[in-house]
Amino acid sequence: MRNHDLHMLRPGDAGYDDARRIHNGLIDKHPSLIARCRTSSDVAAAITQSRREGLEVAVRGGGHNVAGKAVTEGGLMIDLSPMKEIEVDSSACTARAQPGLTWDEFNIATAPHGLATTGGVVSTTGIAGLTLGGGFGWLQGKYGLAVDNLVGAEVVTADGDVLKASEAENADLFWALRGGGGNFGVVTSFTFQLHPVSTVLGGVAAFPLAAADAVIDVFRRVAKEAPDELGVQCGFVTGPDAATKLVALPLCHCGELDQAEADIRPVREIGTPLLDAIEPKSYIEQNRQVDASFPAGALNYWKSAFFTDLSDAAARVLIESFEQCPSPMTACVIESIGGAASRVASTAMAYAHREPGFNLLLLSQWAEPADTEPNIAWTRETFEALQPHMADRRYVNYLAADDGGHTRDAYGANYERLVELKQRYDPDNVFRLNQNIDPR
Ligand code: FAD
Repeated sequence: MRNHDLHMLRPGDAGYDDARRIHNGLIDKHPSLIARCRTSSDVAAAITQSRREGLEVAVRGGGHNVAGKAVTEGGLMIDLSPMKEIEVDSSACTARAQPGLTWDEFNIATAPHGLATTGGVVSTTGIAGLTLGGGFGWLQGKYGLAVDNLVGAEVVTADGDVLKASEAENADLFWALRGGGGNFGVVTSFTFQLHPVSTVLGGVAAFPLAAADAVIDVFRRVAKEAPDELGVQCGFVTGPDAATKLVALPLCHCGELDQAEADIRPVREIGTPLLDAIEPKSYIEQNRQVDASFPAGALNYWKSAFFTDLSDAAARVLIESFEQCPSPMTACVIESIGGAASRVASTAMAYAHREPGFNLLLLSQWAEPADTEPNIAWTRETFEALQPHMADRRYVNYLAADDGGHTRDAYGANYERLVELKQRYDPDNVFRLNQNIDPR
C-alpha cells in the first residue's frame, strides 16, 4: 500500500495542536499520530499502520461529536478535514462530497444550482459524523433526514479495502452506514440527493420565559399539524444580556412564501415577541443563524433522549429547571420529528427512530473550567428529573461520553442486525471509538 505521501503529525509538530483540537473544549486528548488524509489510499494506509502498531483508531470528520470520539489519547487519529472536494451534478440533482466538509461548505457549493439537502442547523458541523448517525435538519419534514438523502458512499474498511456502497452495491454495508455512526469503516465520499431549495422563510421568535406555557402549547400544535415544509423547534435560551431567560421558536419553511406566512400564523399570533427574526432568507443563512451561539472550544456537556410525550408536566419540569440553569450559554432544545423523516420504516436502514414526536437536547455550554462541575451537575439533575417523561430511545449523535450504557437505545430495533454486520465488516472492532457496536 502506497503511503509515502501520507502526512503524519506527531506531538510537537507544527499544526499538531490545531489538528487534535475538536469543537468541545472539554476534550483534551493527545494522539501519538495524526494522519492528515487527502485520499482513500491515505485512509487505507493509516488504518493499516494503526493495526500494525496496535494503535487505537479515531476518525475525525468535522470534529463536532460532543462525546469527543474523534480524538484518541495515545492512538492514531485519522483526520479527514483536508478532504473537502465536492462535485454537484445539477441534472441528476446529486452532490458527491468528501468527509472533511462542513455543512456551510456543502450548502455554498449546492446553492448556485438552486439545490440543497437536509443538513445540520449549525453550519460549522461536519457532514460526515452528522450523516452517519442520522442527521436532523431543517428540511427533514419535506425531504427526510440527512441519511434518507444518502444514495451512495465510498468506504475504506478495517482491512484497508475501498468499497462502494449503495442500494445496488454492498447493500448491507449501505444499510449499516445509514445510522451505524462510524462503526463500519471510514467513509471517504458521500453522494447525496439534492432538492430545489433556495429561499426559505426562517428565523426565530423569542418570548419571555414567563410565556413558556403558551409558547409550548403553540409549538406542540404547530409541530403536529404542520405541513412537511415547516420545521419548528422550541428552545430555552438566555438573551444577549446574559441574564434574560427566553423561550424561543426557531423555524424554517421551505415552501412558497405566501403559504409559509399562512402556516406560521399561530406563531405570529402568540403575542409580541421580544425578538422576531423570522423573514425570507437563503438556506445558507438559515443554517448560520445560531452559529455564534456555539463557539468552537466552548466547554460542552449534553444529555438527550426522545420524549414519550411532551406533556404539560414534562414542560413544567423543563421550565422550572431552566430557571435554575447556571450558564447563559446553555440551551435546552426540543426538536420535533415528523413528515418525511417519520414515514420511513424503522428497519429500512440502521437509523431506527422514526416515531413522530419530540426529542430533548440539554445542550450545556460554558466558558470557564472552574464552572464545569455545577454545569454538569445541573445537566444531570435536569435530565434525571425528566426521566419519567423520556422514552428509552436516544439519538446516537447526541450521546455523551458517559452514555456508554445507552448504546442499544441509540440503535433500537436494529441493534442485532448491526452486530451481525459488524462481525462481517469489522470483526476485530478496529472502529471502536464511537458509540460502539461490539462484534463479540
Ligand atoms: P466528528 O466528531 O468528526 O465525528 C463524529 C464521529 O463520527 C467520529 O468519532 C467517527 O466515529 C464518526 N465519523 C466521522 N467522520 C467519519 C467518516 N468519514 N467515516 C466514518 N466515521 C466517521 N446533529 C444533527 O443531527 N443535526 C444538527 O443540526 C446538529 N447540530 C449540531 C450543532 C453543534 C454545535 C454540535 C456540536 C453538534 C450538532 N449535531 C447535530 C450533532 C452532530 O451530528 C454530531 O456531533 C456529529 O458527530 C458531528 O459530525 P462531525 O463529522 O462534525 O463530528
